[in-house]
Amino acid sequence: VGDSADFDSEVDSICPFCGVGCQVSLKVKDGRVKYVEGINGPANEGRLCVKGRFGFDYIHHDHRLTKPLIRREDAPAKGLNVDPGNWQTHFREASWDEALDFAAKGLKGRGREVAGFGSAKCTNEEAYLFQKMIRQGFGHNNVDHCTRLCHASSVAALMENVGSGAVTATFNEIENADVAIVIGANPIENHPVAATYFKQFTKRGGKLIVMDPRGQALKRFASHMLQFRPGADVSMLNAIMHVIVEEKLYDQQYIEAYTENWEAEKAHLADFTPEKMSEICGIAPEVLRDVARTFAGARAGMIFWGMGVSQHIHGTDNSRCLISLALMTGQVGRPGAGLHPLRGQNNVQGASDAGLIPMFLPDYQDVTQDGVRSAFTEVWGSGDFSNQKGLTVTEIMDAVHAGDIKAMYVLGENPAMSDPDVDHARAALAKLDHLVVQDIFLTETANYADVILPASAFAEKSGTVTNTNRQVQMGRPAVPPPGEAREDWWIEVELAKRLDLGWTYSGPAEVFAEMKQNMKSLDNITWDRLEAQNVVTYPSLSPEDPGQAIVFADGFPRAGGRARFTPASVIAPDEAPDSDYPMILTTGRQLEHWHTGSMTRRSTVLDAVEPEANCSLHPKTLRRLGVAPGGMLRLTTRRGSVEVMARADRAVAEDMVFLPFAYVEAAANILTNPAVDPYGKIPEFKFSAVRVEPASVA
Ligand code: SF4
Repeated sequence: VGDSADFDSEVDSICPFCGVGCQVSLKVKDGRVKYVEGINGPANEGRLCVKGRFGFDYIHHDHRLTKPLIRREDAPAKGLNVDPGNWQTHFREASWDEALDFAAKGLKGRGREVAGFGSAKCTNEEAYLFQKMIRQGFGHNNVDHCTRLCHASSVAALMENVGSGAVTATFNEIENADVAIVIGANPIENHPVAATYFKQFTKRGGKLIVMDPRGQALKRFASHMLQFRPGADVSMLNAIMHVIVEEKLYDQQYIEAYTENWEAEKAHLADFTPEKMSEICGIAPEVLRDVARTFAGARAGMIFWGMGVSQHIHGTDNSRCLISLALMTGQVGRPGAGLHPLRGQNNVQGASDAGLIPMFLPDYQDVTQDGVRSAFTEVWGSGDFSNQKGLTVTEIMDAVHAGDIKAMYVLGENPAMSDPDVDHARAALAKLDHLVVQDIFLTETANYADVILPASAFAEKSGTVTNTNRQVQMGRPAVPPPGEAREDWWIEVELAKRLDLGWTYSGPAEVFAEMKQNMKSLDNITWDRLEAQNVVTYPSLSPEDPGQAIVFADGFPRAGGRARFTPASVIAPDEAPDSDYPMILTTGRQLEHWHTGSMTRRSTVLDAVEPEANCSLHPKTLRRLGVAPGGMLRLTTRRGSVEVMARADRAVAEDMVFLPFAYVEAAANILTNPAVDPYGKIPEFKFSAVRVEPASVA
């Protein structure tokens, strides 16, 4: 730490981890980022969490890819078998020309046999180029990214009922609320800077209602903590709404002015009495009634949710309930009111907005509509593509096994760690004829690659990213990429040239200008404006408007301008615990490690704090198993087994085990259930039946 004189340069950019989108100043000395400081962005006001402040030195790690690599002809069979420090057994160095020619040759002319996974870690411009390449270059929509694994069901419900997949109010609006619900989210670990605003809200007297099958640190600040049974979201939420209907606590004027299908919702809720639902969700009827009265009585109320809501086979139904709760109480479109799914990755909002999804073009425009597609091909100048929705992340892996997909381009994603039932995904990657991986490290997915293209970390590139608040922010390069690594947009353009797509972009500013031609959300937002101001929230109503923190004050972007109530029924989790697998496995992140760990496990401070794979169980459960904290457990589901160190945590229910998914040596997704929500196609990462035993048991 030092003052400005101690550094060669100081560059403003955006934290690369979570969807909060904290603005940072990168302090550079001798070509290395030495220190990171929070600056005054609208989402963080100078604050940073441990990841943002200390988690950046992975960008200078010895394992960074610095040259293009091509799989050796005498390499061992494809598998998870490459030592990142000794990759020469599997790959040889190549020039950029050779590697790009080789990458393109294996993809070119293969049409529907090709699929692409882009990344929510890349910029908006890189995401836009990636989806364009798949659509223009291969004529179909088989392009997806990790939104499918995080909030796809939330987006499905929001699109269906509100007409927009983004938040209706920024999380900072909580300062104008008097009641807030946080459900299925653990912001103190996963959105730590947003959590500071939630804590301040309670210190000012705001009532915080936390709902989660795991107890959690936010519980200390809560007026109500509802630790409900895993998978029982719909029964609990419907019971709360039943009380609001029964006691006529709803906002009749709002419902009449701005919604549709209310009578059906009301009739549907009649059966969901707190007494009946209490038996399913485990929350006492009087608590359900108190929560209903508290939220319905709020002057201004917000609802925040995370992947505890979305990662279920009924994830869309869970979100439908939250939307209905906000609509019936009129808690949308005003200061301190709104719906806010807390987005996970730093640019998952932007990558989704940019069309990195198989059913939507940029700005969620429907690929099945001829007029929509032709508007894009007109701008692109060529490349008619299918009017059929493409395959999603998990469907693509199934299609590889079926022999329908034979080549893939993976930019910055790590499906060999992040997909459910990951052995199935790994076997699919091994089966491909041709796999192009573009990344900064030799990830688990890159183990299976035929060619690896070395890319740039956040501190080495220009580009915009969009956070959970709909704030489009400017990322800037502070240091050059190492060795021969290149910015991702450059690699995409060079590959596209070899696919004869005629791309001539000179940089991300030109890509952003093209995006604006078919993305109304970017109206009044220009590259120059972002360069000057760092951030503009969409929608921005004029070149001077910093953007709208709250939307839908006067209706919704649906036919007729009305939001919709969609009733939700109780659907049991896909896999019930039984005598063979008697407990419930739930997976997620922890404070120090980000997703599949490729960055944070190479960050000195974060890895020192949290160096070892671990799982958490209630102390009573550990005693029953005869295992002390620090001992080893074997977790087994119908997909496989892992062995992992046990921790005691009273926040975890006695019939549950929590396993973070950052650790390759105990990969949580070896265990997870690939069953998906029918609407969002999101896997049920939050509920698998599991057997837990001491690791010494054979
Ligand atoms: Fe980065 Fe999120 Fe932490 Fe902010 S809260 S510093 S964006 S990880």
